[in-house]
Amino acid sequence: MAELLFREDPYLRACEATVTAVLEGGVELDRTIFYPLGGGQAADTGRIADWRVIDTRKLGDGVLHVLEKTEGIAVGMKVALELDWERRHRLMRFHTALHLLGAVVKAPVTGGRIAEDKAHLDFDIEMEKLVKDEIETRLNHLISSCYETSARWITDAELDARPELVKTMSVAPPRGEGRVRLVEIPGVDLQACGGTHVRNTGEIGRLAVSRIRSEGKRNKRVTLALA
Ligand SMILES: [Zn+2]
Repeated sequence: MAELLFREDPYLRACEATVTAVLEGGVELDRTIFYPLGGGQAADTGRIADWRVIDTRKLGDGVLHVLEKTEGIAVGMKVALELDWERRHRLMRFHTALHLLGAVVKAPVTGGRIAEDKAHLDFDIEMEKLVKDEIETRLNHLISSCYETSARWITDAELDARPELVKTMSVAPPRGEGRVRLVEIPGVDLQACGGTHVRNTGEIGRLAVSRIRSEGKRNKRVTLALA
């Protein structure tokens, strides 16, 4: 199983690793900074030595780095990894912003997605309770209040005893290791989450609610964009 360095340090944008498997379309490594698509967050892209990483996917308990072409890369090679950092940092900003959005809108979250240019959460709520200007003002207030974020681990059993820590019904936190990660924005939000976040909400920068739209009876979608 690869060491997932982004979980302890999401700011690590480069490192060295060893190729442990070459598969059709990509490689596995002994350690990685590349976040695989999951939990609503888009996959990382970047470079492994001279090879371009165009996608990153979970593969069993490992991570598949999908390469533009695999020609010339081989098991045992020591390689330098480098993320498309600006893109990843935008994903971290949007991801953390969704934790704040979930705290501003008091309703069950039915889904969510984080892309590099926008992010959304779906809520089980009546349309008329979602007021664009109000959400935007409260969200930007939480951002400019500069809360420190933190992460810690709890066991699966502890999580089972506290079901309120699973906020997003359709995006369950990654399981199977016997532990899950809790992400806390003190006084604002506490939930199980495996994604990458910024250290301080001030780093998110000013956001706009770009759209509020009904996606069905139990899905009212609030979309955020950088202001
Ligand atoms: Zn998160």
